[in-house]
Amino acid sequence: MKNLIVTLSFLLTLLSWDSSGQGIKPVRIGLFTDCQYCNCPESGKRNYKLSLVKLDSCVSLFNSMQLDGVFHLGDMIDHDVRSYDSVLPRFSKINAPLHLLLGNHDYMIKSRYKAGLLDRIGIKEEHYIVDLGTWRFIILNGDDLSFTAPQNKKQKQERQDMVNDQYSQLRMNGLPWNGGIGSEQMRWLEVKLNESERDLMKVVVMCHFPLFTKDNHNLFNNRELFHLISRYNCVKAYFNGHYHSGNYKVRDGIHLVNFKGMVDTEQNAFAVITLTNDSILIKGYGREPDRHLKIK
Ligand SMILES: [Zn+2]
Repeated sequence: MKNLIVTLSFLLTLLSWDSSGQGIKPVRIGLFTDCQYCNCPESGKRNYKLSLVKLDSCVSLFNSMQLDGVFHLGDMIDHDVRSYDSVLPRFSKINAPLHLLLGNHDYMIKSRYKAGLLDRIGIKEEHYIVDLGTWRFIILNGDDLSFTAPQNKKQKQERQDMVNDQYSQLRMNGLPWNGGIGSEQMRWLEVKLNESERDLMKVVVMCHFPLFTKDNHNLFNNRELFHLISRYNCVKAYFNGHYHSGNYKVRDGIHLVNFKGMVDTEQNAFAVITLTNDSILIKGYGREPDRHLKIK
């Protein structure tokens, strides 16, 4: 009897109900970040070569499930453009639609390859929307203002002004391995958040860079971005990578989940996430912990 009650309660958690009493199918996604493959020797905790085996195992697990989408939160390679030749064929084996965003290491390649990088990877837009059921995933380009990605004159000026302004406030985010969101993209985000609120969508914002984590790994304009997204009730969570040790905070009812980097240690790290009408249920694999997060 007790087992039956536990099973029923689990099924009810997975199957949310709207106010009309009709069941809403939960959304289920695969998520991994900082695969950061390179044919290079280990460095500190980073076991670059092992990322291929970890990736194969992650893809095989994802393909054993019915997923609505898979997201990689940036830094798929390191050091050498040829690393893409090992990673991309593995990414292409993922059955569910794959959505990519870029990190700082994705651009740590020789200058002559940078301009053609998006075509090589098959990314058409660097910031975009993915709608799955009643959930909207807003994908941000944290390399908009960057020390590694190509920058036009306007971006260079905006980056310099932002970083200088931060140093004058003793904020230390403007480091070469971080990135920022430019003013044009911020305006685009505000439009998308207004639309999401109007359309009664539940929003997860995704970006490579954390908002409030440790060790000076935050997005340049972390406070400004959080100030914007926290004005919207539709924003339920912010997912990121970049800081490989991972982190979790809840602030103003928004779950800030920093997923662990796949490249670190000999143990894998990735997640399968079920999003219901009232919860975000993270099933972690390897070093990634499970989390049951109630949404506001
Ligand atoms: Zn990174």
